[in-house]
Amino acid sequence: MEDRLTFLGTGDAMGVPRVYCDCLVCTEARETGMNRRLRSSVLVEGDGEEFIIDCGPDWRFMMERLGKRKVRDMLITHAHFDHIGGLPEWSDACRWLGEKGRLYAPAEVLEQIVRQYPWLPRQMEMTAVDDGAALCGWAITCWKVNHGKNGFSYAYRFRKGNYHWAYNSDSINLSPGEKEPLQGLDLLVLGTSFVHETAPFETRSVYDMREAAELLSEVKPRQTIYTHMSHDVDVREALPLPEGVRIAKAGMTVPLHK
Ligand SMILES: [Zn+2]
Ligand SMILES: [Zn+2]
Repeated sequence: MEDRLTFLGTGDAMGVPRVYCDCLVCTEARETGMNRRLRSSVLVEGDGEEFIIDCGPDWRFMMERLGKRKVRDMLITHAHFDHIGGLPEWSDACRWLGEKGRLYAPAEVLEQIVRQYPWLPRQMEMTAVDDGAALCGWAITCWKVNHGKNGFSYAYRFRKGNYHWAYNSDSINLSPGEKEPLQGLDLLVLGTSFVHETAPFETRSVYDMREAAELLSEVKPRQTIYTHMSHDVDVREALPLPEGVRIAKAGMTVPLHK
């Protein structure tokens, strides 16, 4: 199987539509669905294996949509609800299947997960990835990134042969040290919750598309895909996308090789 990435969800923490919201984007998402977005998650396949990055509250629906009955390996970026809310359901599925899941995350994220879901370790093997990991033949490294008002997340960089890609869904205003591992990428998956977020900076937690364009001009990935998009992003409109940038759509598959 060729190495590839499939977007399962491309939404921000609340998804689109937001339950409380009657804005044009949420209304379109309800009625026709072009802007309908589940919480952000991707499926990575290759070398006859697969893993999912992040397990938000839409995980069960994503699995049904894929027609998949099980997943063995999950890699988690951070312990916020939109990235781990599906773990209890996955854990139950592992219990019923009688097969332990394998959960990978940095040690401090695993600790936060176990604090929230103390029964989880019964159904899964937990592996800290602070010093690296390997899944589907990818050499994986992680680093902590600024998540603004929401604290921190981790980003992941993947290397196989001479192909390098990274997944960084929840970050803002990265320091020079946090930007360094984003250099020399063939593909960057980057979270951009808004086109232009006008809320005061200290209340924000994810890049908007204007700031993302600046970041990209510094780290210069060959290709970029924006994800983690809120109801501020209307896919029917012309979005400010620099050359080499496109937006993620649910079900979109991207080859992970040159
Ligand atoms: Zn998030
Ligand atoms: Zn809305």
